Amino acid sequence: MNRPIQVTVWNEFLHEKKHPEIARIYPDGIHGAIAEYLRSQPGIKTRTATLEQPEHGLTDDVLDNTDVLIWWGHMAHDKVEDAVVEKVYHRVTGGGVGLIVLHSAHYSKIFRRLLGTSCSLRWREAAEKERLWVVSPGHPIAEGIGDYFEIEHTEMYGEFFDIPAPDELVFVSWFQGGEVFRSGCCFYRGKGKIFYFRPGHETFPIYHNPTVLKVIENAVRWAAPVERPKPLTIPKAVNVKPLENLS
Ligand code: ZN
Repeated sequence: MNRPIQVTVWNEFLHEKKHPEIARIYPDGIHGAIAEYLRSQPGIKTRTATLEQPEHGLTDDVLDNTDVLIWWGHMAHDKVEDAVVEKVYHRVTGGGVGLIVLHSAHYSKIFRRLLGTSCSLRWREAAEKERLWVVSPGHPIAEGIGDYFEIEHTEMYGEFFDIPAPDELVFVSWFQGGEVFRSGCCFYRGKGKIFYFRPGHETFPIYHNPTVLKVIENAVRWAAPVERPKPLTIPKAVNVKPLENLS
């Protein structure tokens, strides 16, 4: 892409308003912390959108000017309007918008709609250690990341994670309590790209961790649309003439 990648960071933005201890970690919201980091990186422009804005901040104008949409939600997945989910679904599968789904957004309407499974998992809040192993060292999302990195205190997510087999698996997590988890998963749907990245529980300063932010930046560059003929917004079978003479 020969112009800056336009990123919209979406957050339901409720925990930060309800819980002072979370507001202390993210005074400008989780979306604010992620957008602030991305804004300082070359070739990336950011904006933010939140649940309580009209159309959840995802108007046609915003989506027309979004190459990559980052999604964080937890306590209000059911408050997201189905019409907005459908609009985002067609933008993603049409190849116009890349989607990055963070942490508890495994249960978001848009992720479940795109994957078609329950996206359920095991979890535990015990502030334990997580070690994320890079299992695809040649993958662009692993650029600049060592063999593994660690998050000292986090919420545990464990298998079985009810997702379709990822098209590419970039990270696998180990947790101090013994579980493992597919933490960095790439999916191709239609013409679009989706990356699920596990870290990010709201009571820990995980989106201030430089390695976590670097992975999100790498994912933005990977998920950005590639130049293609006009995106198909509604997939359909097309009857075509042969390129060669068949007679
Ligand atoms: Zn969480």
